[in-house]
Amino acid sequence: MQAASHDPGPYAGTGRESEFNPYEAMLDRFDQAARKLRLDPGIYEILKSTDRELTVSVPCLMDDGSYRVFRGYRVQHNLAVGPAKGGIRFAPDVTLDEVRALAAWMTWKCAVVGVPFGGAKGGVVCDPKALSIGELERITRRYTVAIMDIIGPERDVPAPDVNTNEQVMAWIMDTYSMHMRHTVTSVVTGKPVGLGGSLGRREATGRGVLFVLREAAAVKKLDLDNATVVVQGFGNVGGIGAELIHAEGAKIVGVSDIEGAIYADSGLDIPKVQEHVRKTGSVLGYPGADEVNKDEVVELPCDVLVPAAVENVIRRSNADKVQASIIIEGANGPTTARADEILFDKGVFVVPDILANAGGVTVSYLEWVQDRMGYFWEEDEVNRRLGIVMSRAFNEVKEMADKHDVGMRIAAYMLGIDRVGRFMSMRGIYA
Ligand code: NAD
Repeated sequence: MQAASHDPGPYAGTGRESEFNPYEAMLDRFDQAARKLRLDPGIYEILKSTDRELTVSVPCLMDDGSYRVFRGYRVQHNLAVGPAKGGIRFAPDVTLDEVRALAAWMTWKCAVVGVPFGGAKGGVVCDPKALSIGELERITRRYTVAIMDIIGPERDVPAPDVNTNEQVMAWIMDTYSMHMRHTVTSVVTGKPVGLGGSLGRREATGRGVLFVLREAAAVKKLDLDNATVVVQGFGNVGGIGAELIHAEGAKIVGVSDIEGAIYADSGLDIPKVQEHVRKTGSVLGYPGADEVNKDEVVELPCDVLVPAAVENVIRRSNADKVQASIIIEGANGPTTARADEILFDKGVFVVPDILANAGGVTVSYLEWVQDRMGYFWEEDEVNRRLGIVMSRAFNEVKEMADKHDVGMRIAAYMLGIDRVGRFMSMRGIYA
């Protein structure tokens, strides 16, 4: 690839970057990786921008007979390698910049694990907790119709993300299929098993977190049997991740959710915490643990920290207080670019989001493959394939990090960007 003399990017080094804007955080890392790779300037320009950004109005008939209009987004970052892939989140604070960043992260993530998809993400600005099930279904169906021209098994395949689940995927699949006049299960992944969903998909991101934790522990010579772990977020990624890490023999000393955090230095019985959450809706009030400040959970004493909730929780103001020697990023974007530098200087081994939480998209790919074959594997087979992919990706990123003397995050970006860049160079730019 031609040596780059490219513009270092719109925000790099200007001091204009805002620590908490996820799109700027993505561009910051992208610039660092592109410079290290001496990326072709033309490829750099293309990969820096998103391919397509769709903003839609989503009118909804509310239960009280009134109409409300919600805003929805679907952003496709890059489709060079294959159909775009990425989740849909429903949250009051969804912004176009957040969806852009998440779409680009999906491009790099798919490339890091070698899944033949591009990157996309979607969102609807709404508060699902304030909506009835009927309102949620109507918003989902209308949003699906609004983005229908750009999704499809060969174009863009959505999946669940924050506040969306198997039921939401089933509604999207049904709406799309009604318009196509035949059932198209492969238009979304993360569907219920029995409706084209894959065994092992629900647990895939948490299982991927466990697989990369095993690899990271081997690098840092940490014995997982004696290790202490704190998990922030107790949903799909954090809850299942905690359960699997606990079953592996490590001691989970702290967990948190949006309501609060609990800590017990003797270790938490995670299946019992799960039971408590099923009954009460939160980890708070679990007997035999101390309640601690949920905003300080990343500073708790532990060997391994798994942020698996939201963005920007490890930042310039608290990165120095992190006590863990390994961070496994279950969430997307939990560490700001400024915090990265502090953690790197402290010698914390960070397994970045685009590698650590790639188990979800890997099994989404396996689900899409099974839907298109019309033949479904046993769960053991899905987990076996996931293990191979995660372990290979971890070692490829580690090799890149060692070769270029960079942290795992920039190494993961370098691996992803290099793969997509090579793909585009081989295809040629249709300009
Ligand atoms: P989820 O909605 O199932 O769970 C989110 C959890 O985080 C809940 O326990 C919630 O209470 C908690 N939470 C929310 N705000 C919090 C806060 N401020 N402090 C502490 N806890 C808080 O969502 P999820 O699917 O587990 O996703 C979590 C993260 O993982 C997101 O960044 C998402 O993009 C990422 N991710 C998810 C998948 C997947 O397959 N689900 C795959 C890759 C990445």
